[in-house]
Amino acid sequence: VNVDQKLGLNKFYVDEDNAHIVLKADPDRQELQKLVLACPAGLYKVNENGTIQFDYAGCIECGTCRVLCGSTILEKWEFPVGTLGVEFRWG
Ligand code: SF4
Repeated sequence: VNVDQKLGLNKFYVDEDNAHIVLKADPDRQELQKLVLACPAGLYKVNENGTIQFDYAGCIECGTCRVLCGSTILEKWEFPVGTLGVEFRWG
């Protein structure tokens, strides 16, 4: 079983009303490229036309984006409230 298969087993209880991660309106593009490579869930994407795609729904709450880029990218990073967020199904 590889990492992608393990990640695919996780369950997400998404807080639709309250994003736990919010990007800045105009994030630093060089910093953002780091996250395209580093986010283990592959949630940061830059489309061919340069638009940014980010969906907090698949976040595994590892904190990599917060540690790596902090306020150059992020307006907000919090853990999801209560029992919401990722539920790990492996190990
Ligand atoms: Fe990706 Fe981890 Fe940041 Fe979530 S906390 S968006 S999984 S790097």
